[in-house]
Parts: sequence; C-alpha cells; structure tokens
Amino acid sequence: MNLKKYIELSNDYKNNSQKIRVITESFVEENFYCPYCGGNLISRPNNEKVKDFDCSKCNENYELKSKQGKGLGKKVTDGAYNTMIERIISYNNPNFYFLNYDIVSLDVINFCAVPKYFFVPEIIEKRKPLSQNAKRAGWIGCNILIEQIPNSGKIFYVKDKQIQSKDKVIEEWNKINFLQSSKNIQAKGWLLDVMNCVDKIKKPNFSLADIYKFETYLKDRHPNNNNIQAKIRQQLQILRDKDYLRFEGEGLYSLR
Ligand SMILES: [Zn+2]
Repeated sequence: MNLKKYIELSNDYKNNSQKIRVITESFVEENFYCPYCGGNLISRPNNEKVKDFDCSKCNENYELKSKQGKGLGKKVTDGAYNTMIERIISYNNPNFYFLNYDIVSLDVINFCAVPKYFFVPEIIEKRKPLSQNAKRAGWIGCNILIEQIPNSGKIFYVKDKQIQSKDKVIEEWNKINFLQSSKNIQAKGWLLDVMNCVDKIKKPNFSLADIYKFETYLKDRHPNNNNIQAKIRQQLQILRDKDYLRFEGEGLYSLR
C-alpha cells in the first residue's frame, strides 16, 4: 500500500505537516473501516484538532498519528500533556490510529488501531516545556509511549507491509473489548502491566515463575504495593475470567 496517489490532494497546503495529514487521512478514509463494527470512516474537517474520524455506523472516534520511519518506534508525539491526561482520566479520549511510512518510497509499513481503553497515564510521557524563545513558551506537550502498549492492544491493518484481513482485524478488536468495562484507571494500569509482562515472556505457554521474574519491574511501577506476587496472581485470574488466557493447573498458563 502506498501514499503516492494521495499527494495531489495536498497541493493546496504549504505546511509540510498539513500535507502529510491530508495525505494520510485520505489514505485511511479510502482504504479502511471501523475496527469495532466494520463501518465506513468519515474524516472530520482539519480544523477540529482531535478525533479525526468518525464511524458512520457506530459513532466511535479515531485520531490518526503518522510518522516516517521503518517501524512504529518507541513513541509518537501528541498534543498538550495536561489535556491528554484529563481526557484519559475522564474517559473522553478517542481510539488511536498509528501509521508509519517509508519517506522515500511512500510505502505504508505499519498501520494499526489502539482502542481508547488501552490509554492510561503511565503511557503518556511529559515533554520538556518549550523554551522562552518559542512562540508558545512554557507549553508542555506529550509523547505516547506506544512501545508500552501490550501487543494485544495494537490491532494491525497493515503489518510489515502485509494487509491483514478485515475479519481478523474485527475479531482481534473485539477480543480485548473487555477492558472497556474497567472504569478504575489504577486497576487498569495493573492489568495492562501484567499483559505487557506476559508479552515479554514471548511464549504461548508460561509458568507463574516466568511472570514472577517481573516482580522488580512491577514493584518499580507500583512502589506502594507490598505484595506484588499476590497482585500478579489476581490479575491473571481477571485475564482468565475474561477469556484472555487459560489456567492449565500447577502454575501453568496458556494464551488463548
Ligand atoms: Zn463502527
């Protein structure tokens, strides 16, 4: 998939980031669909800063972030830090789309959706305030640490230039929909952390000992918790109840 055919749509724009925005939005609108229900995406006027697309069927919103490069990388730059945190805490943030493309060939390398309920304050990094000489001196932006989103929260439409089937995209999206009901940000942070640790084991079958190896890492992230192992077991039970993984007995687990 390639962005070249959308270049002429950007001729009216002078600013490079506006050009890229028009090109990538047209690409997404023409080729893709809502991962929740399969409905058509409708892009919003460019002056609306957030929520770039609406689904014509179910009204879910999506915000698109694009960058050049070979991979999605560790982080993506976003807007004001405080606004982002407020939106996450008030459950008012949109779903996100992340796209990366090759700057020379304009091939789309990866394009994925991340459900809004995967956003917790822990994956938002505060940037340094803009310098005194800047137009908006003191303004504080943020980065989205996409590397810290569990694998199951990145639903790929295009992965390493390969297009995924629509059925697969919708199935993967709905599989992790259970997180939507988690209304406690702190509890959700724990669940996402344990899902990340399970990802890092890189095995479909693993033991409690495998996951206890992350005890120090989790203690660093949750310094007030004094019984990390019990907390891990509790999160694994929640993931089992949500059909995310299976208990195989004797401290063994498998991913579904
Ligand atoms: Zn929809």
